Amino acid sequence: MGSITLKQVRKVFGEVEVIPGADLEINDGEFVVFVGPSGCGKSTLLRLIAGLEDVTSGQVLIDGQDMTQAAPVRRKLAMVFQSYALYPHMSVRKNIAFPLKMAGMAVDEQARRVAHAAGILNLTDYLDRKPGQLSGGQRQRVAIGRAIVREPVAFLFDEPLSNLDAALRVNMRVEISELHKKLATTMIYVTHDQVEAMTMADKIVVLRAGRVEQVGSPLELYRSPANRFVAGFIGSPN
Ligand code: ADP
Ligand code: MG
Repeated sequence: MGSITLKQVRKVFGEVEVIPGADLEINDGEFVVFVGPSGCGKSTLLRLIAGLEDVTSGQVLIDGQDMTQAAPVRRKLAMVFQSYALYPHMSVRKNIAFPLKMAGMAVDEQARRVAHAAGILNLTDYLDRKPGQLSGGQRQRVAIGRAIVREPVAFLFDEPLSNLDAALRVNMRVEISELHKKLATTMIYVTHDQVEAMTMADKIVVLRAGRVEQVGSPLELYRSPANRFVAGFIGSPN
């Protein structure tokens, strides 16, 4: 569970071709980082996978099934938003349970899943607090908890740490990597930060102007960059 395949995925906004045709294979359980400069199409590609945007042409397969036309909920993916997307008037418990409540899940099952997620994220003692009473790192964990309770086949992160200060960003990188080890669920992580890509990824997808320039492990990209753009971006000496 959690493999994602893109076949010639193309996206045009009005007159502008933002993604000319992307092919990509993501294996179950992989931590994949989409990296590239601002405006290169990282968020668009993630939103096409999530079903938050319709493809202009091409196919999105999840666990081998064609999900190109499927609504976002049917794809069983969970997008992790930045922590400021929390509801300030609701407790941590209610914030985490929110997507389950919206889906009409039985209250006892909601409680079971919230307790499980809170345990994984070390939030058990904070469930009755409001987001304003938490540290930045705890708030970011609540945002992740809201994704965990949905028990997705893959997590999608779009620059989740970009509004955090440098020290907290480093801590959260480690926490997200540890979470990936615990859950062993596919994660796609979007960033414009090479260091994040190099330290977190099993597989890096380098994007440039909507094109997949290279796919490989951090070591492969560092040792054998396909071109100068990748070398420059990854900081390879070649
Ligand atoms: P990134 O996340 O890598 O910074 P985006 O995927 O947000 O890049 O954007 C890629 C390109 O697509 C940019 O040129 C952006 O202006 C354009 N774009 C993104 N969303 C839309 C939209 N809804 N309508 C028109 N253009 C868009
Ligand atoms: Mg973006």
